[in-house]
Amino acid sequence: MQIEDYIKAGKIAAEVREMVRVKDWIGKTVYEICEEVEGEIKKRGVKCAFPVNTSINEVAAHYTAEPNDPITIKDTDLVKIDLGVQINGYIADTAVTVCYDAQFDGLVQAAEEALGNAMSMIKSGVKVSDIGRTIETTIKQMGFKPIANLSGHSLGQYTIHAGKSIPNIWSIGGFSLSENSAYACEPFVTTEQGGGFVRNGQIKNIFAINSRKKTKEPEADRLLDFIWDNFNMLPFALRWITKEWEEKKARELLEILIKKKTIQAYPILIEVNEQRVAQAEHTFIPNENGVIVTTRAL
Ligand code: MN
Ligand code: MN
Repeated sequence: MQIEDYIKAGKIAAEVREMVRVKDWIGKTVYEICEEVEGEIKKRGVKCAFPVNTSINEVAAHYTAEPNDPITIKDTDLVKIDLGVQINGYIADTAVTVCYDAQFDGLVQAAEEALGNAMSMIKSGVKVSDIGRTIETTIKQMGFKPIANLSGHSLGQYTIHAGKSIPNIWSIGGFSLSENSAYACEPFVTTEQGGGFVRNGQIKNIFAINSRKKTKEPEADRLLDFIWDNFNMLPFALRWITKEWEEKKARELLEILIKKKTIQAYPILIEVNEQRVAQAEHTFIPNENGVIVTTRAL
C-alpha cells in the first residue's frame, strides 16, 4: 500500500542517513561513499530511488561518483550526501551535510534549523510561500543566504520531481499542501559572499529515461530496456550499468540514447560565486493529524 511503502522507505532512508551523518568519511573516495551508502540501502532489502549524490563544497547538488571515481574527501570539505529509497516506486528523499571543519558548522546548522522550522509548520493547507518565508528568514537570521533557485518538490510514484516546488525563499503564488500527498523539503544554504543561486556545471553523471522510443540500434535499445526494467523513470548512474556493459561500451550507448533524447543527462549544480553550500532534506506527508515526516530520525 502506498502510505505504508512511503513510511517504510522513509524509515530505512533515515536509518542510513544517520549512519552517514556520524561516519568519518575523510580519506574515502566518492566512489567508495556511493557504493557503501547504496550498499546499506540494498542490504535492507529495498532499492535506491536514485544514485547517492556526493556534492562537495561549491557543488550544491547532482554529483554522483563515476566508476572508480578517485575524488577523495579532505578534512576541509563540506559534503552533501543525498540519498533515496524506493519501495514500489514510493520514494523517501533525504540528505545530510557532513563537515569536519568547525569553520563551516554554522552553514550546516542553518540548513538543519531551516528544515526543522519548516517541518514544524507543516499541515495540510499550509501555503508553500509561507514555508519559503520561514526557510529564508531562519537562514538570514543566522547570517547566511538561501539558494533561491533550488527547491523542494512534490513526489509521485517513480517520480522524484512530480511538478510542484517548495521554495527556499518567500515567493509570490505557489500552492497549498494537500493531505496524503508526499513532498520533500530541502533548504540549501550558502555564505554571505555567495550569490544565492546555482548554475549548471559541465559535468553530467546522473541520467534518467525521457521516452522509450526505439533507436533502431539493437544494443542501445537493449540498454534502454535494461534501464526501464531496473530503474523505471528514476535516475541512474553509469556505475549502475557497468555491471552489464563494459564501461567504454556503456558510455557509447548512453551517448547514443542522449543524442536521441530518449535519455536525459542532469548537469551538476554549482554556486554562482563558488561559495560552499550546505543542505538538509526530509520527505513528509501531511495528514489529518498534522504531518508524518517519513525520514525523521528515530
Ligand atoms: Mn534529495
Ligand atoms: Mn529532493
